[in-house]
Amino acid sequence: MFYEYDLIIIGAGPAGLTAAIYARRALLKTLILEKTLPGGKLNKTEDVDNYPGFTSIKGPELATKMTEHAKYYEIDWEQGEVTKVEKKNKRFIVKTNEANIFNSKAIIIASGAIENKLKIKGEEELTNLGVSYCAICDGFLFREKVVVVVGGGYSALETVLYMSNIASKVYLVHRRTDFRAGKEIVEKVKNNSKIVIFSNSILDEIVGNQKVEKVIISNLISNEISELSTDAVFPCIGLSPLSNFTHELGICDQQNYIFIRDDCSTLVPGLFAAGDVARNNENKIKQIVTATAEGAIAAQSVIKYLENF
Ligand SMILES: Cc1cc2nc3c(=O)[nH]c(=O)nc-3n(C[C@H](O)[C@H](O)[C@H](O)COP(=O)(O)OP(=O)(O)OC[C@H]3O[C@@H](n4cnc5c(N)ncnc54)[C@H](O)[C@@H]3O)c2cc1C
Repeated sequence: MFYEYDLIIIGAGPAGLTAAIYARRALLKTLILEKTLPGGKLNKTEDVDNYPGFTSIKGPELATKMTEHAKYYEIDWEQGEVTKVEKKNKRFIVKTNEANIFNSKAIIIASGAIENKLKIKGEEELTNLGVSYCAICDGFLFREKVVVVVGGGYSALETVLYMSNIASKVYLVHRRTDFRAGKEIVEKVKNNSKIVIFSNSILDEIVGNQKVEKVIISNLISNEISELSTDAVFPCIGLSPLSNFTHELGICDQQNYIFIRDDCSTLVPGLFAAGDVARNNENKIKQIVTATAEGAIAAQSVIKYLENF
């Protein structure tokens, strides 16, 4: 354990673990702080079929492989939830919920984001049994099946279009009439014969025994209640970045994503961010491969930053 680290990485998901590999190979004194299991969201993923090098691999297995790879470089590791990051006289002070305090010259925040939940009956019980928060990941499981997508923003519209190439029918349930997305994508959705739109409607319940079987929706104007038979539900009502502990630093955009430049730097010198918690535009793809890519970029940027420290 060092008194002062060159680099502290917050979060040991794909972005943080990749950053750790690159940082340790450049011999930076590096500490990873992780609040739960290393591997991040990989631990919640059944099959990963789109990460190069693995035709198909279980999420937790990929998590173990990435963690072993990072630990191979003898990295310092502490379990704890980061609650605050401060900067004083060019140095960072990182506090955790266990009242531990760590110091470093640079930071990479790789704390990820969490999917917003519908908070309705059946959602939690049927997660991974037809309820999925990632169509790119799980959509393939519903070839020629009927699926429901919930939401009215870009991610929902992209998901319905994506699923229209895979499923036999796609229902889009949206609580308003207008969509929060560009005209072009809205027109594409409206003109797609496989997509059926339920506007002014919300999902009340997801029903199924060991797998999704149907949803109950209600129309907010007519109060009419209907049932739709379906094999899957994809809630696409946004992600919430896990960036609360940075808010005093003023580095987030309006949706609380950490704003990053192409080199993963933030508005605070020495503070970098990577993966799902960070973005420089609203259309960023949030996948393992983009998280690992940014982890590598962030670590290389830290190496450059420390050369002139
Ligand atoms: C169900 C599901 C299936 C998916 N399937 C695929 C797929 O097949 N292919 C694909 O490419 N992508 C998939 N994804 C997306 C992919 O998992 C994410 O894009 C990727 O994990 C993002 O990596 P990350 O390192 O940025 O964040 P995460 O993986 O979320 O890791 C962040 C880590 O930071 C930790 N952390 C958070 N806050 C703190 C704190 N305050 N202090 C300390 N630690 C903290 C978390 O515990 C976590 O371990 C899927 C996502 C889900 C939810």
